[in-house]
This record gives sequence, structure tokens and C-alpha cells, in this order.
Amino acid sequence: MSTTTGATRVSSVDVACAQAHETAPWFAATDLSTRAGLLEAIADAVDSHIDELVPIAMAESRLGEERLRGEVGRTTGQLRLMANVVRDGVFLGVVIDHADPSLTPPRPDLRRMNIPLGPVAVFAASNFPFAFSTLGGDTASALASGCPVVVKSNPGHPQLSDAIMAVAQDALVAAGAPDGVLGLVDESLQAGIDLVNDDRIEAVAFTGSQRGGLALAKIAADRPRPIPFFGELGSINPMFVTADYLAGRETELAAGFVGSFTLGAGQFCTKPGLLIAPRDETLRAALIEAVGGAPGQRMLTDGIRDMFLAGVDARVSIGDVEVLHAGGLDDANDEVRPTLMAVSANAILAHPELLEECFGPMSLLVEYDDAEQMLRIADALPGLLAAGVHAVGDESVLAELLPRLSAHAGRVLWGGWPTGVAVTWSMQHGGPFPATTRPESTSVGAAAVQRFIRPVTYQSVPEEWLSPALHDANPWAIPQRVDGVLD
Ligand code: NAP
Repeated sequence: MSTTTGATRVSSVDVACAQAHETAPWFAATDLSTRAGLLEAIADAVDSHIDELVPIAMAESRLGEERLRGEVGRTTGQLRLMANVVRDGVFLGVVIDHADPSLTPPRPDLRRMNIPLGPVAVFAASNFPFAFSTLGGDTASALASGCPVVVKSNPGHPQLSDAIMAVAQDALVAAGAPDGVLGLVDESLQAGIDLVNDDRIEAVAFTGSQRGGLALAKIAADRPRPIPFFGELGSINPMFVTADYLAGRETELAAGFVGSFTLGAGQFCTKPGLLIAPRDETLRAALIEAVGGAPGQRMLTDGIRDMFLAGVDARVSIGDVEVLHAGGLDDANDEVRPTLMAVSANAILAHPELLEECFGPMSLLVEYDDAEQMLRIADALPGLLAAGVHAVGDESVLAELLPRLSAHAGRVLWGGWPTGVAVTWSMQHGGPFPATTRPESTSVGAAAVQRFIRPVTYQSVPEEWLSPALHDANPWAIPQRVDGVLD
């Protein structure tokens, strides 16, 4: 790593793309066991360097040691899940139709499988210096699909990006991989632009702001040869509460909600940005008490802090918005205290800007008078990463509410809170715009690998020229659909 060798792992965009391009055919042709082994080698190396990496992350991100150590575990767990996804082989989508001359017209031998797109540019996120950054889910899933990765370092933690890239590159070399499987370019705006514009890049994965994501998506689309852009741009993640559920549960609900929207200083794309509940004085009082007891926290960067404070001011200035608890910046220690506002159902429908994400420790109580108002808010929602309901279970309105949540969100919760995204086979972390630029995709979980592959059908190509995945003998022992039957 750079801390052990003293050499930075940052390359110019040209060098990083050239190396990624050169190594792409080798990497695409790796057998599944070798590729999974490389992912596990990176995970093992990161785990063994945790004591060096966490202090760098603490110094750069202002996040605490316990949180960051947990995040390292999430990151290496993610890499290991992707190794399992590779070995499993389902993502290759192998389908074989043997030639059948008896058909009219006769059918040739047809064999279909997914192949990697080629070098992927990954934009590291600021809010998870490990789990959504240099070796985060985007990198892990792109590597699992067989794509070399060039990471654009996040300006919030460039030294950590360099250090963890060194750990990963050294692990890859020790495991027998050539240069170019993983590369790093600097944290400047221009490096990111140049990277997306480089013709050797075949896809982009991004986690960050809507403004930045859309600017880069436009660059990807305007290239002479446009490429897919997978942007995760954030979400307001509304939680609906029915009247039957609320009765007697006000304190418990308030504690859960405030704990979730202030977690990590509200710097999660899964933060619940709206609590949509019946108008109720007991709930108001419980919320004010809970948020008043929440501590101040430092935010990731000065820029994110300033953008957050400006976002709070903009909302407070809307006439229909009532401040239930005013937080704000404590200049003495640069900590931001959480803010909670309230607005009526009719007012939020009249102010669609209140349905936009405000990244940081603030949220909005939306008070409704009847079920019809609740459903009108559900209809007005933008695309979401997550949405949920706290209900008893026999409310008739659920039959209308739940389909509306599915129509807008990638993850629908029953109870609980949206912060906390399990890294597992079934997870969907995506959703319609503006949550993401690609509603069919996920950036967390096993299905994240699907973003960086595309299907090819080989017609009458002799087996010796095909991937072992497509051989009749099935040497990789992966699922194959043969003549219509899945084995
Ligand atoms: P950001 O401003 O979107 O930046 C993310 C990455 O994109 C950085 O590497 C940034 O480089 C680059 N970038 C941004 N705008 C660009 C442009 N016009 N052209 C080329 N590159 C561009 O995100 P951030 O700095 O991490 O946080 C700012 C805001 O993003 C937050 O307040 C929050 O609203 C949102 N955010 C969302 C998520 C999420 O989970 N979706 C996560 C983190 C942050 P430069 O910094 O050099 O411009």
C-alpha cells in the first residue's frame, strides 16, 4: 500500500485506462474460481490492514472508529458475497439450444451467455469511505462481472482511496493478476470528466448528488460512442403511518424515526426524509422530545455541511413549513444538530420542492387528516430507493397504499426504518429517477453484477472457441438451460 511502499497508486486517466483496456481480455477470460479468488484476496488483504486504514479514514471523513471498522467488515463481506456470486455462475445466464434439423426452419446450434462490458469507471462516494468507495459495491460487482475498474477518487478521502487501492493492487499482484485490473485516478473534477469521456471506458457507476450524477450521465450519453451510466442519486424514503398503528405507539415511533434520520448525521441515501402520519399532538410532542435529545455531529465535508444548512434554510423559508425543532451549526465544534419540520398534506402537495432530498440530519413530519390525503401524497412521490409503512395489518387503505409504494420505490418496508441496507442475494438498492438513472439496476446485493454484463448468442460456433461456460460437459458446473430445461 502507499503507506508501506510510499508510492502513490494514483495514475493519469490515460495510463489507468490504457492498463484497464489492455488487461480486459485476460480478466474477461478468467475462470470463475480464479476470479472469485481475486475478490477474496482483496477482501483478506483489506481485513488484515484494517488497523492502518481506519485511522486514515477517521482523519479524512470525520466519522468515528466504531462506524468505520463496521464499514470495513461490510466492504470485505461485499467482496466475499461477490466471490460467491461468481462461483455460483447464475449471472452468466447460460442457455444452450442444440441444433435441431427436424424443425421448420431447421434450428442451428445456439448458445447464449453474458460477457463483461469491459473497463468500468467507478465514482467513489463521500458518505461511505469504505463500503461505497474505492473498493465498495460498485467496484466489487464490476470485478465480479469480469470488468477491470478505474476508480475516480472521492475528494472527501483521497488518502484513504490511495492507501486502500495499494492494499488491493498488492493483493491482486500477489494472487497472480496483471496490472490494470484495478486503477485509481485523482480526485479532481477534470479527472472524472476525462475518465467518462475516455473511449476505453465501457460503463460508469456513480454514487453522489443528482447534480453531479446528471452532469456525468450527460457526458456518458454525449460521447461519440455513448455508454451506460448507473447513477445512484439519493432519495427521500418516506415512511407512512396508519392511524390504527399510531395509537399508543407515539413514543416508540418517534424514537425509531429520530434515531434513523439522525444516524450518521443523516448522511445516508436511505435516510427517512418524510414521516407521513395522522395529525396527532402526542406524536408531535414525542418527536420534539426525541429530536431534542439527539446529539450534534460533524458532517463529512465543509461543502456537504454548507449545502445541508442551505437546504434547511430554504425549507424553513417556505411559509407553510413549521419548525418543530430547530437544529443548526454549533460553531465551537463544527457540529450540526438535527432539525425537524412539520407540514400539512395539502402544503406538501403544493410545494413539490419539499419532496427533494436534503442530505443531512433533517426530516419532515407530514400530517394528514384522512386516508385519501395519505394516498394523494403517495401518488405524488418521486422515484425512491425505499418507502415503508407502519401498520397493524388489517387497514383497508393498505390495498391501495402498498401498490403505490412499489410503483415508486426499489425497496418496500413493513415496519422498521430504511437506514440499513443488507448486502445479500435478495437486496434491491435502486429505484426510478431521481433515485437512480437506471431503475432496472441495483448498486447493492448480488444482482449488482448484472449492470456490467451483456448477452451474446453464439451460432454454430465450435465448442473449442467458446467459453467453458457454454460447453456441453459443463466443466464449471454452473446452471445451464439446455434445450429449454434448466439443470
Ligand atoms: P457529488 O458532489 O455528487 O460528487 C460525487 C463525485 O462526482 C465526486 O467525485 C465529484 O468530483 C464528482 N462530480 C460532481 N459533480 C461533477 C460534475 N459536474 N462533473 C464531473 N464530476 C462531478 O457528491 P458529494 O460531494 O459526495 O456530496 C455532495 C452531495 O451529494 C451531498 O450533499 C448529497 O446531496 C449527495 N450525496 C448523495 C449520496 C447518495 O447516496 N446518493 C451520497 C453522497 C452524497 P468533485 O468533487 O471534484 O466535483
